[in-house]
Amino acid sequence: MGGNPPVGVLALQGDFDAHIQALQRFGFGAVPVRRKSELDRVDRLIIPGGESTTVSKLLAFEGLDKAIRDRAAAGMPIWGTCMGLIVIAKNVTNRLVPTLDLLDATVDRNAYGSQLDSFEAELNFLPSASKIHGIFIRAPKILAMGADVEVVVTHGKSPVGVRQGSFLGTTFHPELTDDPTVHSYFVSL
Ligand code: GLN
Repeated sequence: MGGNPPVGVLALQGDFDAHIQALQRFGFGAVPVRRKSELDRVDRLIIPGGESTTVSKLLAFEGLDKAIRDRAAAGMPIWGTCMGLIVIAKNVTNRLVPTLDLLDATVDRNAYGSQLDSFEAELNFLPSASKIHGIFIRAPKILAMGADVEVVVTHGKSPVGVRQGSFLGTTFHPELTDDPTVHSYFVSL
């Protein structure tokens, strides 16, 4: 941990506990963030998987949406996994939800449909040219992205992990595996 502040995990709804446990398993400090005073104590934030329609409402109710956007504008790294990617994306198709409007990408919610709503696959993690295991649960697809968005993880040829400066978005769930690759990458941003 090297004296770094703990990683904040947005804990309004969804699989935040899995992220907190994964961070601890991988040797990083982690704290739940439910209000602005807790956000003030972390230097980076994970927005976990869950239900984007629910979380976008809770964020507005708590005034956390503005607090997160202010911190994002000041350079705080933010990583959204699955629902979290939907919440940070600028554009969402297939039932619009209000988003934090941060990562310049268009994502399609529940894009794999009911036949294939959850699956596992081997993915390419481009920063270290390594393979990682991907768990997808009612995952979104990344349909389009801005010119300054870089692809960091692919499933075949499709982007499933993208980065724009200090913003990272993945459509899958690294917190459900024993592989620290993506968490370590995020903590290094
Ligand atoms: N399908 C969910 C949504 O649209 C996201 C699923 C997940 O985060 N595992 O909000």
